[in-house]
Amino acid sequence: AKRLGKNTYQIYQQAQTEQMLRDFELEQELRLALNTQQIQLHYQPQYHLTTRELCGLEALVRWQHPVRGMIRPDHFIPLAEETQMIIPLGWQVLDQACRQTAQWLEEGYQVPCVAVNISPLQLLQADFIEQLNLLVDSYGLHRQRLELEITENLLQQNPDFAFQQLKSLRLAGYRLALDDFGTGYSSLNRLKLMPLDRIKIDKSFIRDIGKNTKDDAIILSIINLGHSLGVEVLAEGVETAQQDRFLRHHGCDTMQGYLLGRPVAQPELQRRTG
Ligand code: C2E
Ligand code: CA
Ligand code: CA
Ligand code: CA
Repeated sequence: AKRLGKNTYQIYQQAQTEQMLRDFELEQELRLALNTQQIQLHYQPQYHLTTRELCGLEALVRWQHPVRGMIRPDHFIPLAEETQMIIPLGWQVLDQACRQTAQWLEEGYQVPCVAVNISPLQLLQADFIEQLNLLVDSYGLHRQRLELEITENLLQQNPDFAFQQLKSLRLAGYRLALDDFGTGYSSLNRLKLMPLDRIKIDKSFIRDIGKNTKDDAIILSIINLGHSLGVEVLAEGVETAQQDRFLRHHGCDTMQGYLLGRPVAQPELQRRTG
């Protein structure tokens, strides 16, 4: 057993070293990617559940790697956060989202609200709001057109400062959405204090609609909780007509998911009339 233990340890160490080398390589490559236009955005439509009107687009980052092909964010956002590279990456995402929105508007398209995922690390930078204002103003955009998606882990390190940033962002005119709702562990007291426009029910709950009455009950209570706090409720990861029906029937406001649209580089937008 002792020998096995040692071998296991060595194998473990070797695996760890390999992982470190891979991360290091990926880090170098991500640095390069930021300077060579390998970072792109896809946009996923959001719809009103009852009217079926397009009401938003969520910007989702994609890394178009010259050799590895398209890399999904789950494979590089955690590394970008560990290495602080999420800050320049986050600004590139915001810049591209604003530039694209301004371009659509200029080309005469009707553009709904555009949602961007913001890492807590970036949002908690002291000059975040000032820089964001400069960026958004430079493209001549209204701030209400931009929705910032945050998660509950924003409140972990320094909740006082996080609350202050959120309040200032809201006062400055940006919309705020709480992403992956139901997976974090913030108390209802904290939730009540957050200046939100919308909560997004995590797709893990939506996936189980109709399979388990307890899960269904949880979704109903999230919808009611959102409404009693005066915020809009969006369901993410809606893939089936059954989920769609359930959510509509129970008064959820908006939805996003493969059923009505996947993330794409060029979403379909309507021309402005008149
Ligand atoms: P998220 O913010 O929860 O984004 C939703 C994820 O669900 C996206 O994955 C989207 O493609 C996927 N999705 C949408 N509809 C469906 C559906 O019907 N079924 C299923 N199974 N999945 C669906 P994606 O694009 O791979 O992004 C993964 C995560 O990476 C995001 O989760 C977000 O946390 C993070 N992320 C994406 N873009 C950015 C970014 O620009 N900045 C930061 N900081 N994080 C980002
Ligand atoms: Ca999101
Ligand atoms: Ca989410
Ligand atoms: Ca997520």
